[in-house]
Amino acid sequence: MSRPVMASLNLDALRHNLHIVRRAAPASRVWSVVKANAYGHGLDRVWNALGTTDGFALLNIEEAILLRERGWKGPILMLEGFFHADELPLFDQYRLTTSLHSNWQVKALANAKLAAPLDVYLKMNSGMNRLGFAPERVQTLWQQLRAIPNVGDLTLMAHFADADKPGGVSEPMQRIEQAAEGLACRRSLANSAATLWHPETHCDWVRPGIILYGASPSGQWQDIAASGLRPVMSLKSQIIGIQTLQRGACVGYGSRYRAQGEQRIGIVAGGYADGYPRHAPDGTPVLVEGVRTGTVGTVSMDMLAVDLTPCPEAGIGSPVELWGEEIKIDDVASASGTVGYELMSALAPRVPVVTV
Ligand SMILES: *Cc1c(COP(=O)(O)O)cnc(C)c1O
Repeated sequence: MSRPVMASLNLDALRHNLHIVRRAAPASRVWSVVKANAYGHGLDRVWNALGTTDGFALLNIEEAILLRERGWKGPILMLEGFFHADELPLFDQYRLTTSLHSNWQVKALANAKLAAPLDVYLKMNSGMNRLGFAPERVQTLWQQLRAIPNVGDLTLMAHFADADKPGGVSEPMQRIEQAAEGLACRRSLANSAATLWHPETHCDWVRPGIILYGASPSGQWQDIAASGLRPVMSLKSQIIGIQTLQRGACVGYGSRYRAQGEQRIGIVAGGYADGYPRHAPDGTPVLVEGVRTGTVGTVSMDMLAVDLTPCPEAGIGSPVELWGEEIKIDDVASASGTVGYELMSALAPRVPVVTV
């Protein structure tokens, strides 16, 4: 047997989560967001389980081409458009829907030699100040784009910075309404948080990412605990060493953890080079032999330590869930000062992945 760490992907949970999205936004079409190698799950492994989606949204041309080569014939939305004009022949060849967020992109598209027009998402900056055109430019741009032969279907796109907060979309929604006044345009506005919590944003196409993978857009599992969403990725390993600490003995680099009394601990094959957060504090939840316990000491590159006090029957070879169905990735992330998005998308290439 090789090193016991592995990730397992529950493709039923993925299908189920898409179904939850459909139920939340029944009148909208769904762009399943699979950027960043499907949030670390592996685009090639998971796209087929999302095969009933209306389209895939991502941002690497290589990932778009992979979907086409695997036989996906539906729409593909390039969330940031083309990064350089020399990508346009590939957008043309693979029939990719492009976002446009900057002047140079409009010019490049207008001047490109295409076999057929490309569908366009006009990206408006609704207050996040990341990508997009200022609201007051939307009307003019819309007319300009309408007149460009290379532009096919046009949709207005925006993105929310605070959709995980109550009231977090009201200002941006006002800006969007104002910018699009009188335009009979299709719209795509909603990320996961808006899909779950702000139905007024659903419009024609929603763009959920994180909830497809069963983690919370707010970073807090309790915010989606009642939604029916199910975690897709489990990071599992085993105990490969046991230590019995005497009172005052320390564990791991920096001797951060010190035993208060005699204490049995387990050493797990799993560390930050597998994608487990190095900043996890003592007590970060972990499941050993089906029993919840916590980590002790600083996470190493290849190992971490867990308290075996609640599970005295555990020993070498005991199964460990670092995150998954029982230990929510959101809980590990929030203990470590980050979000589930970062942990799942940073699953290390050395971790073998199985799909179930
Ligand atoms: C990543 C992304 C999404 C999906 O965001 P989630 O919070 O994962 O749902 C939607 N739209 C755009 C433009 C994105 O970049």
